[in-house]
Amino acid sequence: MHRLAGLCAALALLCLAPSSHAQGLPALAVTVDVSHVGKDTWRVDYRFSQAVTAVELETVGDYRQKAWKMLTPAMRLEPASQFDRISADGKPFTTASIQITTFDGLAPKSYAPFNRFTDGGTAVFLGNLQGNAYQDKQAFAMSADIRLKGLAKENVIAPPLNKLVPGGERGYAYFGPAQPVRSGSTQFLLDPDTPAWMREVAQDVGAKVSEYYEKAYRRALKEGVFVMLSVSGFEEKGLAMKGGAVMGQLSYRFDGQKLLADHPTYREVLARLVAHEIAHLWQLNVSRGGIGENDPWIHEGGAEAMAIDALLKTGIWSPQSAANYRAQQSASCEKLGNSVASFDGIYACGLMRFDKLGIDIVPLWRSMIQTSEAKGEVYSERMIEAIAGGAGGALQARAKHGGAGE
Ligand SMILES: [Zn+2]
Repeated sequence: MHRLAGLCAALALLCLAPSSHAQGLPALAVTVDVSHVGKDTWRVDYRFSQAVTAVELETVGDYRQKAWKMLTPAMRLEPASQFDRISADGKPFTTASIQITTFDGLAPKSYAPFNRFTDGGTAVFLGNLQGNAYQDKQAFAMSADIRLKGLAKENVIAPPLNKLVPGGERGYAYFGPAQPVRSGSTQFLLDPDTPAWMREVAQDVGAKVSEYYEKAYRRALKEGVFVMLSVSGFEEKGLAMKGGAVMGQLSYRFDGQKLLADHPTYREVLARLVAHEIAHLWQLNVSRGGIGENDPWIHEGGAEAMAIDALLKTGIWSPQSAANYRAQQSASCEKLGNSVASFDGIYACGLMRFDKLGIDIVPLWRSMIQTSEAKGEVYSERMIEAIAGGAGGALQARAKHGGAGE
């Protein structure tokens, strides 16, 4: 999906989009019934604990315009660039029902709304159902109790609860014939058509990198991890890999014929994707604080740096592979004017910023994770500066030097 140079043109690192909308607002309880009612048909029923006048959900490209239909009479869904809005012309309501059709599109910067498995199973991103509720101008974070109901005889697997924000954003729910396989504290739900090389890389890198992060960052994951891997679109000529980390869950989606081929370059790219996403699990492995709304270069560039370090230290990547990747990202960052203001800049220039701090990524992030939890603060430039000390001054100086757009 996203645009890196050359071969990587079609490879996406989808990353964490903590719902920027919901933090710091009073909560309003809502039950959300998600029912699978037909092969590609879903029904969502919201029941609010108090009457509201509107609901706003972060826009995911044209997904809701194309796939959502309001079932409650007189209610409307108005798409907008940032937030899609559901309302009944300002009249208060306590319930809203929507019919959703499985949507195969992908929007940049967003989790895929649905991931199909080749055995007919479907994963639904529940985060797309969660956002803010309004009573006139007063905004509330929806504190959602999500209940899932599958078709007859279908397995339904709920994503882990959001421990940082109870009622907050959740990951993918699975509906279909498969049963997860448990390995230690990790549950795997792998598409039966996953090419063998991919299965091997995902499991091998997952295990080695997790073990490394646990030692390096001196903490075990508080929760087990649920890894979901779906493959689809093998008829497509291109190639796309999309991965996402949400609370306690890693989700990967692979599209494209090329992925059937086992190639060292694809192995390297998949290894990086896995190591990057698992780095987010450690960034999120705190009882408070963690990833904030601002400065995404910190958690994305940080995950890039943590991943490269882990791939090198575990011997999964050669020093040459790491050097090549750094050179590629450095060139992308330069093309973007050394700014972290664009989507690609968050990754490429985010990595460069950590590299240029001149301190080892492991003690830096170990300290950031500890500080975040101890103080209940999200990761920030100020925190990096405080930890990096003198190196922090360099960060500021560079931001000034970088000029507009930072
Ligand atoms: Zn990421």
